[in-house]
Amino acid sequence: MTIKTIFLDRDGVINKEVEYLFRITDFEFIEGVFDACLYFHHLGFKIIIISNQSGIGRGYYKENDYHKLTEWMLEQFNDNNIKILDTFYCPHCPELLCECRKPKPGMFLEAKNKYNIDMRNSWMIGDKDTDIKAANLAGITNTILVRSGHFIDESNSKSRFITDSIKQSKELISI
Ligand SMILES: [Zn+2]
Repeated sequence: MTIKTIFLDRDGVINKEVEYLFRITDFEFIEGVFDACLYFHHLGFKIIIISNQSGIGRGYYKENDYHKLTEWMLEQFNDNNIKILDTFYCPHCPELLCECRKPKPGMFLEAKNKYNIDMRNSWMIGDKDTDIKAANLAGITNTILVRSGHFIDESNSKSRFITDSIKQSKELISI
């Protein structure tokens, strides 16, 4: 038994991009996130969040700050009847050359093994080409790059689709 999953990057996809975000007061949901996630559930997708959190490795905030923010964020999803299956994060700074920091596929592969995910029928929604590259390396070809986060070089993107935000991704994902 496999499951199909929508993988979401966090900053720039779920919430407005703030560099090295860790305070709940700085976390602002992007319009349409809950509505889109309810639609994904309706289609039978699980939802997993995968994010690079090098602010931990760089010493800008503590691992516990990340967990507190995550706990709060998951409560907001829960209050909107959305169940996030799991969250994966890479706490390392780039210099460590770990296997989890996107564009490496480590976190995707960990999720795949943990939940027996059918990657061919899963999707990745990100705001950076490193999100798309990591997903591709993990066997996900259904990718959406959103304009709601970092600036994206659309002509050089490897993403299957590019759209304004997670809100519009509803138009691209069907059963
Ligand atoms: Zn890492």
